Amino acid sequence: MTPTRHLAIYAASEANSRGRALPEPAPKYRGEYQRDRDRIIHATAFRRLLYKTQVFVNHEGDMYRTRLTHSLEVAQIARTVARALSLNEDLAEAICLAHDLGHTPFGHAGQDALNACMRDYGGFEHNLQSLRVVDELERRYASFAGLNLCFETREGILKHCSLANARALGELGQRFIERTQPGLEAQLANVADEIAYNNHDVDDGLRAGLITLDQLTEIPFLASTVEIISQRYGHMAHSLLCREVVREMIDTLVTDLLRSSHAAIAAAGPQSIDDVRRAAGPLILFGSEQALNQRSLKGFLREHLYAHPRVREMTEQAHATVTGLFERFMADNSAMPAHHAERASNQRKLLGDAGAARVVADYIAGMTDRFALSLRER
Ligand code: MG
Repeated sequence: MTPTRHLAIYAASEANSRGRALPEPAPKYRGEYQRDRDRIIHATAFRRLLYKTQVFVNHEGDMYRTRLTHSLEVAQIARTVARALSLNEDLAEAICLAHDLGHTPFGHAGQDALNACMRDYGGFEHNLQSLRVVDELERRYASFAGLNLCFETREGILKHCSLANARALGELGQRFIERTQPGLEAQLANVADEIAYNNHDVDDGLRAGLITLDQLTEIPFLASTVEIISQRYGHMAHSLLCREVVREMIDTLVTDLLRSSHAAIAAAGPQSIDDVRRAAGPLILFGSEQALNQRSLKGFLREHLYAHPRVREMTEQAHATVTGLFERFMADNSAMPAHHAERASNQRKLLGDAGAARVVADYIAGMTDRFALSLRER
């Protein structure tokens, strides 16, 4: 008795699902992907997203995005598009809510620092870490480690991964070796992520005063967006103008994504999710004009926001904190809580230093910004 909306033949569905690694009885009044979403929401790693940096360190202010509110915005965009294209909305939502679970504290700066620490031990990829969180690290169920999610949810979480790691992942890593596509819900989560962060980074950057609307209008499509809003509403408070510009951009992108993806799906004519996986390229995509606009916006943000001295300062602090913690815990595994210390000693016996290093990386990656900072101070 799981009420399902009409799904396109090429959407992911319970009927064509590759299922869970460990088979379980069907849920009584939810769908399988709803169950995945619910397990993600109950995960410890999910709650910690609230105190993890997106771009601005969590304690810089209460109104900036955190990884949690970012993930909610990604899910909101993906659900809208999934429903409009008759894709599996529950699956799209589950993937979006889980897509950043493996992120370290301090955003990309933290990930880069941890990756550098792990250079001799197989590296650190936040995307692969999100999969580790749902496959192994969460401990809440008596019958299995991790969340035992459906194949399609896991397929969507693993957005990219190195070839070496793909080879170790079996069926899930196959598509990186064969260079095939994931299902449409996974493709959608990927694009929704991009729409969300480009726009909320503009919003947060403007609010923080690190970038200005005048600077942004150097990009032609943003100049015309400001023009549209000014003509539509006349004079308004600057802060409101900023919000309306971001709102208009999201609307334009989502509308374009729907139109272009609809056309691409129609042209490829997939008859199943496996046809989608075999297609020559992704079918959830922007038209060429919006793709170009997004590239120019990304370039702008890289130059003016992510490289801004105030953001940089945080980057350096993040690097020092993550590196300091890593060195400390590698030198003395017992400085970690008992459960991690024990895992590290077991893994060291099996795999040497690389085994212990992976446990240290798991521990650090799971930290919130504030926990990492307070630990570093101690
Ligand atoms: Mg994201």
